[in-house]
Amino acid sequence: MKIDPIHILKDHDLKHTKQRVRVLEEIAMDSVAISQPELEKKLGKEIDRVTLYRILNAYEEKGILHKIMDMNGTANYAICSPSCSVDHHHDEHVHFNCTNCLKIYCLDVMIPKIKMPAGFTASTVNTTAYGICEKCSVLQSGN
Ligand SMILES: [Zn+2]
Ligand SMILES: [Zn+2]
Ligand SMILES: [Zn+2]
Repeated sequence: MKIDPIHILKDHDLKHTKQRVRVLEEIAMDSVAISQPELEKKLGKEIDRVTLYRILNAYEEKGILHKIMDMNGTANYAICSPSCSVDHHHDEHVHFNCTNCLKIYCLDVMIPKIKMPAGFTASTVNTTAYGICEKCSVLQSGN
C-alpha cells in the first residue's frame, strides 16, 4: 500500500510539519506495526520524546493510526484503514504478534461481530493472535 503522508495530513485537517511527515513516513515504511521505543530510536535525533508522543496521540485521535498493545504492554502503531475517522476507528481486524521476532502484523482478517451481554457496550474489540509469523516459519523450516 502506497502512503502519501502529505495527502493523509491534508485529508485529516492537520498542518504538515516536517516532524509529522517524518513520523508517518517511518510508520508507513513497513507493513508491520512499529513500537513506540523503536520510533524513539529511529527519530530521536529529529524529534524529542514529548513531541513524538503528542504526534502519535493526535494521529490516533484523528483516525490515522491505531494503537496495538503487544504482549509486554508496549504500544505499537500501524496505519489505519481508510474508513477510520476522528474518534471512530474501524480497525476490526485480527492482529498477529509473533513470539519469535515480536513483530505485530495487521491481518486482513476481520474480527467476527461479538454479541455483548445486556448492559455492556463495547467501543473496541481487540483480537491478537500469538504465534510464529510467515517470515519466521520460513526461517525455521529452511535448512
Ligand atoms: Zn483506525
Ligand atoms: Zn516472526
Ligand atoms: Zn491493525
